Amino acid sequence: MLLKSKLPEVGITIFTVMSQLAVQYDAINLSQGFPDYDCSPELISLVSKYMNEGRNQYAPMAGLMALRERLAEKQEQLHKSTYNPESEITITAGGTQAIFTALTCVIHPDDEVIIFDPAYDCYAPTVTLLGGVVRSIELSPPEYKINWTEVKKLVNLKTRMIILNSPNNPTGITLSEEDMKELISLTHNSNILILSDEVYEHLIYDGADHLSVSRYPELKERSFITASFGKLFHTTGWKVGYCLAPVWLMSEFRKVHQFQIFSVNTPVQYAIADFLSERGNYLELSNFFQVKKNFFSNLLRDTRFDLLPCYGSYFQSVQYSRISDEKDTDLAKRLTIEFGVASIPVSAFYSNSTDHHILRFCFAKKQETLEKAVIRLAKV
Ligand code: GLN
Repeated sequence: MLLKSKLPEVGITIFTVMSQLAVQYDAINLSQGFPDYDCSPELISLVSKYMNEGRNQYAPMAGLMALRERLAEKQEQLHKSTYNPESEITITAGGTQAIFTALTCVIHPDDEVIIFDPAYDCYAPTVTLLGGVVRSIELSPPEYKINWTEVKKLVNLKTRMIILNSPNNPTGITLSEEDMKELISLTHNSNILILSDEVYEHLIYDGADHLSVSRYPELKERSFITASFGKLFHTTGWKVGYCLAPVWLMSEFRKVHQFQIFSVNTPVQYAIADFLSERGNYLELSNFFQVKKNFFSNLLRDTRFDLLPCYGSYFQSVQYSRISDEKDTDLAKRLTIEFGVASIPVSAFYSNSTDHHILRFCFAKKQETLEKAVIRLAKV
C-alpha cells in the first residue's frame, strides 16, 4: 500500500537513539535529560495516599482545580502575573504535549513560525506537521546571542509565532531584559503569538532571575507558557505538565486538548497540588542543581573538553576542538561505545545540522555518576 509520510525528513529522536545506545553498551547515560536519583518519598506517599483513597477516575478536562490554584499562586508570587485558574491554566501530559497542543490550536497551513536554532527537537517537526513553515535563525556559541535586527528582517504578514526557550535546552543560555525589550517592540501592534517554553525556570544559576514572559503584560497577552513537573520534582516519567495562557488563547488550547488527551493522571495531580503548597519544594531547586553543576564543571576542567557557559537548565555543553575534528554525531557515538559515556550531539538541534563540535551532558545525576563519567572522559 502507498503511504505519504507527514514527516518524511524525521527519524527517531536523538534522545531515544542515544539512550538506547547507552543501554546497549552499558554506558553512563548523560544524554537524555532525566535524573538518576529518586524523587521525594513524600511525593510518592502522597500519590499512594490518593490512589488508596480512590482518586482513580478521570480528572476534570482542564486539570484538578487545586493544582491549577497552586500554579496561579506560584505565578503570582514569583512573577506578579495573574492567571485565572478557572480559564487560563490547563494541566497537560507533560511539557511536550503542552507545546504540541499550543501549536496545534493556532498554526494554520502556511503560517510562519520563527525558531532559534539550536532548538529543542519537537518544535520544528510539530510546526511542519501542521502545515506551518519553520523560519529558523541560527545562533552561535558560546553566547548564542539573538540578533534582533535579523529577526525583524524575517518578520512578515505570515509570521504567526515566535518560539522561545529560556533557560535554553540545549545551550543553557537565558534571555536578558534587553531581549525582552526587543521582543516587546517587535511584536507590538502585530498578530504574532509567543510560545515560551519555560520548563527550566527553576534551574537557574549564580543568583540570576528567571525572566518569564508573564512578567511583561505586553508579552503575556500573546503568550502560551509551557512547563513540566517532571523537571521540577525529578519525576520525568510521570508526564505531567501545564500550560498558562490568557483566556482568548486558552479557550482554543482546550478545544484541542480535550480531544487529544482529555485529561491527565488524577492521583498524581492531587499529590503535586499538595507538594506545591510547600514553596521550598521548588525554590530550593536552583541551589540543589548549582551544587551539581559546579561539581561537574570543576571535574571537567581536568579533561580536554572546553566548557561553554551555562546559566540555566541541567545541561552542560562542551566543545571538543582540542580532541578531534570528527562530526559531533560520530564522536557522541564513539564516546558511548569506546569510553562508556553517552551525550547528545548539539547539531541534532539545528535544522541544517550545523556542527560546532559541541556535546551536551546532563548533570542531573548522583555525584558518583558524574565522577565516574569524568574519569572516563579524562581518558579521551
Ligand atoms: N527534555 C529531555 C532532554 O532534553 C528529553 C525528553 C525526551 O526524551 N523527549 O534530554
